[in-house]
Amino acid sequence: MGIRVFDELDRGGHEGLWFASDPATGMRSIIGIHSTVRGPALGGTRILPYRSTDEALIDVLRLSRGMTYKAAAAGLPLGGGKAVIIADPATAKTPELLKAYGRAVESLGGTYITAEDVGSTVPDMEIVATQTRHVTGLPIESGGSGDPSPATAHGVLAAMHAAAEFIWGSADLDGRSVAIQGVGKVGSELARLLAAAGCRLAVGDTNPRAVESIVAETGARAVATDAILYEECDILAPCALGAILDATTIPRLRCVAVVGSANNMLLGPDDATRLEAASITYVPDFVANGGGIINIAEEFHPNGYSWDRAVVAVERIHDTTLEILSRARSEGANTLQAAEALAESRLSAASV
Ligand code: NAD
Repeated sequence: MGIRVFDELDRGGHEGLWFASDPATGMRSIIGIHSTVRGPALGGTRILPYRSTDEALIDVLRLSRGMTYKAAAAGLPLGGGKAVIIADPATAKTPELLKAYGRAVESLGGTYITAEDVGSTVPDMEIVATQTRHVTGLPIESGGSGDPSPATAHGVLAAMHAAAEFIWGSADLDGRSVAIQGVGKVGSELARLLAAAGCRLAVGDTNPRAVESIVAETGARAVATDAILYEECDILAPCALGAILDATTIPRLRCVAVVGSANNMLLGPDDATRLEAASITYVPDFVANGGGIINIAEEFHPNGYSWDRAVVAVERIHDTTLEILSRARSEGANTLQAAEALAESRLSAASV
């Protein structure tokens, strides 16, 4: 391993890593626990054919840290964790492998709580759940909170209302133009919510069928995938890939605000400064897309999961967003710095 693991843990402020291997099934997993200061470390299981252990390790360190900030920004009593399984989900993801992984999660005794992520599905998590109680996001009929995407879309909408209030002095989105990049699970639901709010929509997706169906449903205008990012609009909503906003793309944007669900949409932290310099109001992705984890957190309620309660909790993203945008303005920071500062203040308050 080329990476100096302890130096990386210290640099990122991670509590620890758990390497699990099961030669009988080929299961090789790394579980990253970034923080349990506010509660058990929650985060999904990413199954990918990483080219090296180092690559998997870097991913788990980065993603688990991001989960801490997401949970803290959402004000949840949860910490941040993430797991990776080094395997090709198309060929190597057997029930036996998933069960071996479930035993690894169980061995951590609830310090880490898992969920689905890239490469893993809800049915996979049902197999994992045969070996451990520490699984979230199961179907509602199995006692879980189901697909988080509708809650994520509601949260993005709440963040958009807050951004509108901050920029234009009214939270009303009626008549506003929104360009959505990616109309998958989150983007399509967001399009429905925005259409109902009276927005004029433009949508782009590499999957033409996804575009066709949302155009038919909402009256959105279809835009070529390579043009959707640069559409002239009030709000750009990236809901597809990460790392799309960088030194090359930001100067070409023609929006007033960026509010979307895509994880890690900035290539790096300097891109928050670039957006600010371009007079574009950026709602940090981990704030805008916190609806999914807020929905999952409702599973821990003593009375069990309830969608009605989850929606009320998700709508608090509005107030969090306004607080972050206002703090950024009054403290002369960019919005990413203000969101990280809010999360860090909640972490230090919890650690005393
Ligand atoms: P999804 O896979 O259902 O949808 C993504 C869509 O983007 C697909 O329709 C895909 O065809 C499209 N796409 C891919 N590349 C594209 C490109 N270059 N240009 C335009 N469209 C492209 O995923 P999702 O669950 O809707 O998640 C969307 C984003 O939100 C991801 O970044 C995800 O990590 C993030 N996110 C999702 C949730 C959730 O609850 N699902 C929660 C938090 C964050």
